Amino acid sequence: MLADIKVGDEVIMPSYTFVSTANAFTLRGAVPIFVDVRPDTFNIDESLIESAITERTRAIVPVHYAGVACEMDAIMMIAQQHNLLVIEDAAQGIMSTYKDRPLGSIGHLAALSFHETKNIISGEGGALLINDARFVERAEVIREKGTNRSQFFRGQVDKYTWVDRGSSYLPSDIIAAFLYAQMEEAELITQRRLGLWHQYHELLHYFEMRQILRRPIVPMECQHNAHMYYILLQSLEHRTKVIHHLKENGIHAVFHYVPLHSSPAGKRFGRPHGSMKNTDNASDQLLRLPLWIGMHGLEKNY
Ligand SMILES: *Cc1c(COP(=O)(O)O)cnc(C)c1O
Repeated sequence: MLADIKVGDEVIMPSYTFVSTANAFTLRGAVPIFVDVRPDTFNIDESLIESAITERTRAIVPVHYAGVACEMDAIMMIAQQHNLLVIEDAAQGIMSTYKDRPLGSIGHLAALSFHETKNIISGEGGALLINDARFVERAEVIREKGTNRSQFFRGQVDKYTWVDRGSSYLPSDIIAAFLYAQMEEAELITQRRLGLWHQYHELLHYFEMRQILRRPIVPMECQHNAHMYYILLQSLEHRTKVIHHLKENGIHAVFHYVPLHSSPAGKRFGRPHGSMKNTDNASDQLLRLPLWIGMHGLEKNY
């Protein structure tokens, strides 16, 4: 709403993501244009973005998968050259950095998620990050049911009234209090998760050397937040066997997204640009392993 996305506008995004990435735009009548991901990080392949741009393109939405940053320098450069907005889906990216810059602080706009499945939680919830001053005033209005109530409280207007479209996007006090406590522990939570992540990584090295699986790849310029530990198996059949075997041993491991371009709504509202090979491979081969803050050290159970 804040980006003023209109019916028929096109928004470039990966297909290997959660539905909210696309819904934010299809709710405005825009068309998601799905671009394939890189085979190393499963983030949008920045080298494919430019060829997906048309005169209807309004924004690029990089999703920082597993809290590992997209190639933001290249993406910001493309956006600048074509006068497009960059809206980071940093739902998984809190406390991660790209070239020492926090994720969510690089694009014009960004969204964080505090859903229960994320690192820092409030049950449901999220935050809009605004890195471009021209959006601030209208964001306050949209958040306050389309009124200028925020300006009124600052004494900038003498009565408040309905000035634009909006809704109630405020968290309740109780949710905000819960989230505040999480924020105070954000450093500790991230360190604990990173500890578990690195234990997985070390223990699975042996299996990678034997070419049984592939471990996550984190580019040099990315410091991640251990949002997720995943492995890649050789095929869908292989992964199905591993899931079954883990389940028999009381371990709940899950695969991730059905690509949006092959979902019923994705076909109806969006369109893929070019091959989706890496997206389809990730969807077939990637397996998430349990990782949560209350988990015991892995070597104890090993
Ligand atoms: C969790 C997630 C979202 C959605 O977050 P909500 O808080 O449920 O709206 C969006 N994008 C990605 C990549 C996510 O992982």
